[in-house]
Amino acid sequence: MIIGVPREIKKDEYRIAMLPVGAEELTRRGHQVLIESGGGLGSGLPDEAYLAAGAEMVENREEIFARADMIVKVKEPQPDEWPLIRPGQIVFTYFHFAASRELTEAMVHSKSTCVAYETLRDREGRLPLLTPMSEVAGRMSVQEGAKYLEKPQMGRGILLGGVPGVAPAWITILGGGVVGANAAKIAAGFGANVSLLDINMDRLRYLDDIMPPNVDVLFSDRHTIRKQLERADLVVGAVLIPGAKAPMLVEEEDLKIMQPGAVICDVAIDQGGCIATSKPTTHSEPTYMVNDVLHYCVANMPGAVGRTSTFALCNVTLPWAIKIAEHGVETAAVKSPELASAVNIFNGEVTNRPVADTFDLEY
Ligand code: NAD
Repeated sequence: MIIGVPREIKKDEYRIAMLPVGAEELTRRGHQVLIESGGGLGSGLPDEAYLAAGAEMVENREEIFARADMIVKVKEPQPDEWPLIRPGQIVFTYFHFAASRELTEAMVHSKSTCVAYETLRDREGRLPLLTPMSEVAGRMSVQEGAKYLEKPQMGRGILLGGVPGVAPAWITILGGGVVGANAAKIAAGFGANVSLLDINMDRLRYLDDIMPPNVDVLFSDRHTIRKQLERADLVVGAVLIPGAKAPMLVEEEDLKIMQPGAVICDVAIDQGGCIATSKPTTHSEPTYMVNDVLHYCVANMPGAVGRTSTFALCNVTLPWAIKIAEHGVETAAVKSPELASAVNIFNGEVTNRPVADTFDLEY
């Protein structure tokens, strides 16, 4: 199979969908890998590394789309890419179809086969191609929080770990899933006083077992949240109700009980956010102030640490890209129910019911 990896063209996107080791694994199995020149630079991966791994570097992105049997990407195809996608071509990337009727209709119209990272479900019902980005965002939320708590960044002027004789910061994390647990781990490592809140008792029991002593694991209800807000230096929003808008856990009036200069990092902003005053921001303008509380609500946090994110993403996507390259989507989907769950569109036919239902399309 010919596998094409174009450079990502979405704003603030520095990742690439394949590492040199991925190109090597595929070429070793007799496939051909085309990489757009300069595509890896945002992640610190030069063309020479891909050439040494057996890939062919292609200057012109149109040529990649024209020659490849399968396109492997990071972000959903952008409008400039839609006309380049051919009937029967496999596109393996994040799509998030439910967020865009235009994208869904463009892919149906292209008669391509769309295999979506975000719907690939493993045997335990988890979403293994989404998890690494939640791990990145969770760990990064505390790093960003630490930065914005500094006075020149408009924060309270607090050092997360304190120093001998001065108390460390209080950090409240709403949601103890992948983002929340990763945030708690990093916050605890800094030496902060951490409270991790969730509503799932089994999850709370598990977190209580594995978290270090400076993490309190608490049931998430309105009274506990308000009590936390009074003393929190940093609040991380990390809740998710799968397939739904995030629940609103902090109302605008709650900001009045917070300390001036406290920081909110609402990671759940990509699902609408769990803080009433959150609105999506970008890496170029990541923060804004409401009621003296600094808000950081970047919707694609992993983009800023493109190199780490590229490696984290490619580690989990490569085995599936190899399966598709070896067998084609049809056979690979029959052999693997996990892969079947990722096929959203097959040769222009919508094969994912929620996507079809969202836009009233034929299923
Ligand atoms: P997850 O499913 O692993 O965890 C969500 C947790 O929220 C679950 O444990 C659930 O029990 C808990 N929860 C639900 N309602 C709650 C409530 N009322 N109070 C407290 N906890 C509650 O999800 P995740 O992978 O950790 O992702 C969390 C959010 O972060 C998602 O919206 C995801 O899309 C988002 N995310 C954003 C970025 C970004 O760049 N901004 C990157 C990755 C993930």
